Order: sequence, then structure tokens, then C-alpha cells
Amino acid sequence: MTDLTRLSAAALAEKLSAGDVSSVEATQAHLDRISAVDGDIHAFLHVSDHALEVASDIDRRRAAGESLGALAGVPLAIKDVLVTTDMPSTSGSKILEGYMSPYDATVVARARAAGLVPLGKTNMDEFAMGSSTEHSAYGPTRNPWDLDRIPGGSGGGSAAAVASFEAPLALGSDTGGSIRQPAHVTGTVGLKPTYGGVSRYGAIALASSLDQVGPVTRTVLDSGLLHDVIGGHDINDSTSLAHAWPSFAAAAREGASGEVLKGLRIGVIKELPDSGFQAGVSESFRAALAAMEAQGAEIVEISAPHFEYGVAAYYLILPAEASSNLAKFDSVRFGLRVDVPGGTVEDVMAATRDAGFGDEVKRRIILGTYALSAGYYDAYYGSAQKVRTLIQRDFDAAFASVDVIATPSAPTTAFKLGEKIDDPLQMYLNDVTTIPANLAGVPGISIPSGLAAEDGLPVGIQFLAPAHEDARLYRVGAALEALLVDSWGGPLLDRAPVLGSNGGSR
Ligand code: GLN
Repeated sequence: MTDLTRLSAAALAEKLSAGDVSSVEATQAHLDRISAVDGDIHAFLHVSDHALEVASDIDRRRAAGESLGALAGVPLAIKDVLVTTDMPSTSGSKILEGYMSPYDATVVARARAAGLVPLGKTNMDEFAMGSSTEHSAYGPTRNPWDLDRIPGGSGGGSAAAVASFEAPLALGSDTGGSIRQPAHVTGTVGLKPTYGGVSRYGAIALASSLDQVGPVTRTVLDSGLLHDVIGGHDINDSTSLAHAWPSFAAAAREGASGEVLKGLRIGVIKELPDSGFQAGVSESFRAALAAMEAQGAEIVEISAPHFEYGVAAYYLILPAEASSNLAKFDSVRFGLRVDVPGGTVEDVMAATRDAGFGDEVKRRIILGTYALSAGYYDAYYGSAQKVRTLIQRDFDAAFASVDVIATPSAPTTAFKLGEKIDDPLQMYLNDVTTIPANLAGVPGISIPSGLAAEDGLPVGIQFLAPAHEDARLYRVGAALEALLVDSWGGPLLDRAPVLGSNGGSR
């Protein structure tokens, strides 16, 4: 019998609509898989008690002849940054331990309305600050390719859940790379939409001018299918775009033929320092470009002189916005309250925030408060905003001569747990290729490009397109995916060590 957890969401959806399997069976298979492997992986902070009930309702509606969405009955993992009414939402923080939201994030509401079955909430770096999921207040997630290694971050839980076949689909959020970098290190597909393309309503805010919600999947088509469900204008998000988006699933299907590669102009940034990249990452990147070139794509050297200042600008803008967004965790309105007998209101707030926030969150609040303080505002925050504008102009200039920009999705493959935890700067440098897209608001996708020769771990290639051109990423991503999967003789994840065959690790 087919192992339902190994199917893509698209293939599972077909079986569901053909009546070959029920959503209860598909959901149960994933719950069983979670029981078998999540003790090792720790992708989930909470597994839903209602998943089978929801699945059985979908089965009943299907049997009654109701017309259901393309992904109806397919299980979905949800990053804990997204609030849900039926499961706690902690954003990976102790300050929100056990917090129940009175409303669903728009993307969750849309997923439910489309008949997807929420399986649980996934682990993440506290308030989405990090690149390894080690900053979660609930313990780290492990990479299914090697349990001693990180699954990326901040959305390591979503990526690891999808990579270890605990869920066919997951939702993530990407403020500086938290969808794309975990995809890179786990051999999965992650897409950050155009800023404003997917609602941020109910996504616990990290940095509001950078945050975007998006899909985490095993295939480009699955990403398009999920994006079609969650995307589009939302009156509850003032930065949501009123734009007529095409079907991203249709774009992915269209791209798979490879036709799009003929004459496609792919920009490669000449200033990206080769030296900062692991050899196997650079090799995999160049091999993917060569494969596309062989199909008629043109590789064009472009200049993006300000990208190298992206990390510095981001780590001023992000803490500034985060320090302001996190001010609401004041012991009065949400979550934790630490009582200080005989203390003032300020004493209670200080004790609560001291106990409730982890070190990385405190570091960023302090950095952000400093960057915004009188006398320093122009020198730090003001300068960073100018750099942001220069990066946006670099993109505008580049997209005048190329259709997409390609970069490796991150500088190295998955590093070991503990390796960078005491070195914030090294941790921040993971985001060197992902951050510019957030600063400019343009869409980016990471898809697997292969395994690094030296360590056999997954590598991702990132494509960036102009704002509103997410569909182009689906076409190009699906074209390259088809080429590569063909050359590998099957999906990259088929080569991952098999977890849980006897209930334990590899
Ligand atoms: N690693 C980045 C950071 O720590 C990315 C965060 C994100 O995208 N949520 O800020």
C-alpha cells in the first residue's frame, strides 16, 4: 500500500478527490508519522486534538457531493507565529506559553475554509529571531538529514516537518529568510511572496515592514497550490495589496515543461563574494545554472553594489521594529505575568519581560531601542533606511536587464547544533543572500539544487523576481525542479536517511 506520507500534496489531493483515500486515512498516516519520528525531530510544539474530526468532516462533505477546494482534506502544519483559535500560539516564547488567540490568522482561516486539515503548530526561534531554531524557548528542532544539525530558522519546525514527511505542507513566515534558509538546509521548497501578497493579519509581528507569510513544501507545485489558498487581498492587513494575482499552481504546471528557460535572462550578482560560500554550495549553484543554460537560459552578470550592506541595515531596521512590536508584551494584556510583591507596575513589567524573553530577544530589543533613541536615530535607523532604498534601486536596475536573479539560498549547508549559538554575528551572516528581498519587498523562492559534495547535505538555489512577479518564480522554479529531479532519478528527499523505520532515529 502507498505510504500516504510520501506523496506530494498535489498527488494526495488527487487521490482524495478520486475517492481512493479518505482525509481521515491521510491525516492518521501523518499523525502516526509524527508519533514515530517527532521525538527525534521536535518539529511540533503542539499536535492538534481535532485533526481527525476536521478530516472526517471533509470526508463527509465530499461524500455529500459538495464541491471542495483543490487541497481539501490535505494535512497542514502551521508555524507557531500564526495565531489559531483551537491550538496555543506561542511564537516560540515562554512569554506566550499556553496563549489562546480569540481569532485565527487570515492565512489559517483561509486554509480551514479551503478544507486543509491543521495538524499542529511548528517550532521556531523565539519571535522568529534566528537561523537555527535553537532560540526556541521549547528546545531545538533537528534536521532530518542529520539529527546533530540545525534545520535552519526561524521556521525550522515547518521545514523539518515537511522534510521528514510529518506533513505534506506547512506555513512559514519570512522576515529575513526564515522560509527560504530552512528550505535550503532541509532539501525543501520555500517561497517568500511579494510584500503584501499574503496577509500578515494574525502573524505575531517581528518586523512589520519585512514580515511575509508563505508556503513550505516539498515541490514547487505544492507551494503554488498552497499560495493560491492563502494569498490575495485582506482588508484586515493595511499593507495587503489589492492586486489581481494569477494562479500560482497554474504557473508551476506551466513551468514544468521547461519552455520558460528558453531565452530566460538569469542575473548573477558579481559582488557576491565567492569566499563566504562553502565550496559545495557554490558548486551546486553553478551546476544548476549550467543546467539551465543548457536549456537556453542566458546567464547575465549584474551589479548589486549595495547588497553587501543588507545584513547591517537589516539588523538595525529589524530590531527597531521588533523592539516596538514586542512592547505589547507588558504583563497586562497577554500571557505571562510575574508578580513582584510590593513592587510597582514597572517592577512587574520588568520581571515579566526578564523571565519571559530569551537572550536573543533581549539582545534585539536592546539593539532596537538604542537604534531608535534620541541622538542616534538618524545615525543608525535613518542610515539603515537609506541603505534599504539603495538596495531597492539595485533591484530596479538589475531587473531592467534580467528576468530573475539567482543566488545560493544561504552560504553553508546545515551546521551543527551549538556551532553558532554563541556567535550572533555568524548566525546573522546566514541571511546574507535572503535579506535583500525582504528589504526590497520582492518575492524569492528556494528550491533544492542538490547535495554538497563534501558533506552530502542539501543545498538550495534562490531565485528573486520583481515585486508582483511571484508567478515567474513558480514557472522558473518548476522548470529547474523538473530538470534536476529528472537528472537525480527522483526527488532529493528520497536520498535523505530514512527516519523512524523502527520507531527511533536513523
Ligand atoms: N535569521 C533572520 C533573523 O534572525 C530571519 C528571521 C526571519 O525571517 N523571521 O532575523
